[in-house]
Amino acid sequence: MSGEKIKAPRGTYDVLGEQAAARARIEELARTLLEGAGYERIETPVFEATDLFARGVGDSTDIVRKEMFTFEDAGGRSLTLRPEGTAPVCRAFIEHGMHKRRMPVKLWYLSCFFRHERAQAGRYREFWQVGAETIGSDDPAVDAESITLCARVLEQVGARGVRLRLSSLGSPETRAAYRDKLTDHLRANETRLSDEVRARIDLNPLRAFDSEHEGTLAVMETAPLLIDELAADDLEHFAEVRALLEVAGVPYELDPTLVRGLDYYTRTVFEFTSDALGAQSGVGGGGRYDRLVEQLGGAATPGMGWAAGIERMLLAAGEAPQPAPEVDLFVALADDGEETRRCAFKLLQAARSAALPAQMELAGRSLKGQLSGAAALGARFVAIVSGEESRLKDMQDGGQQTIATDTVVHTVLRAQRAL
Ligand code: AMP
Repeated sequence: MSGEKIKAPRGTYDVLGEQAAARARIEELARTLLEGAGYERIETPVFEATDLFARGVGDSTDIVRKEMFTFEDAGGRSLTLRPEGTAPVCRAFIEHGMHKRRMPVKLWYLSCFFRHERAQAGRYREFWQVGAETIGSDDPAVDAESITLCARVLEQVGARGVRLRLSSLGSPETRAAYRDKLTDHLRANETRLSDEVRARIDLNPLRAFDSEHEGTLAVMETAPLLIDELAADDLEHFAEVRALLEVAGVPYELDPTLVRGLDYYTRTVFEFTSDALGAQSGVGGGGRYDRLVEQLGGAATPGMGWAAGIERMLLAAGEAPQPAPEVDLFVALADDGEETRRCAFKLLQAARSAALPAQMELAGRSLKGQLSGAAALGARFVAIVSGEESRLKDMQDGGQQTIATDTVVHTVLRAQRAL
């Protein structure tokens, strides 16, 4: 049977070569930064009970209504590939009784997420996020700490043209009252709105702020703003978050129209955008979710978190040149005899045991081909093995010496120490 080519599903991609190296670099810098700040790594399952997201993220959000990969397992249970990380982390917090730990509990993750969105540059159906959640404190310092850590990750990744938008959504009660006020405003101007916004006036009026439709934009210019309706304690909390960001030297723009696509947010919300990205300019974002743990069946516990997209960060950082992986020793074969191959293979193992990054010729090339391959790899030394004897070549100064094959590793290590 002749095989027809099978392609990766729409909105997914393979990670190859340099991309893998760039991703590893982000993982490493995130780990260093977040673990240095006291965050512990957490990984939750790739799929969860659908109800977790319906209740956690919110039934009326785009994510839950349109974007989830939901399926039934053989036992008839509804499961969903995780579309975001906060609800699963809160589920794990409750399930493992983490409220008994010293508060706040600080957790970070680097995981893949799934959303059935229209695929385009920077928007995928499987994408990766690095994120951090701080659960168990409503101190404004937690908000400022979260935002500054996200800012540092973006800075260290090298994301260009980064801007921070900041707002506060207050409490769910304030939001409910505001929602009614906004709905009234939208109803009063219904004929000027886009069909999409009009259809969702009752379901999610806040999303009208996201619309780019001309008529809707005009209506939103005179719309009431949530920030003007906040209760005194929420305003005070927000003022302190802002003061701490100023202390930390993190510039931000107040944006009272900032609407995040998830229902669980309370008080502080933020989004980092990058001018280097196109339409999908959001590179990271998050906020406070003081009711989420309770909503998922835990005790009332405040929380704050953020996530930044790995693919968007890579795009925002541009094509930064990646350092090639090091090769300290390339083991070349002077002839195609059995003895030479065995001595060479033994040398390769000795190099690895001594923690020397080493590679060996594996495709029977001519010596000339092997040497040019070693040069292309940037190998520091090449051992041209001829049985028990090897010619060790220093690729930087061109120097050569003939030595016993089983002393090559020792000689390379000594030369490196002298460098
Ligand atoms: P959100 O969970 O929607 O707040 O997204 C947080 C970050 O994840 C965004 O700022 C993006 O960097 C990234 N992100 C969200 N959705 C996608 C997607 N479909 N493809 C790639 N990255 C995404």
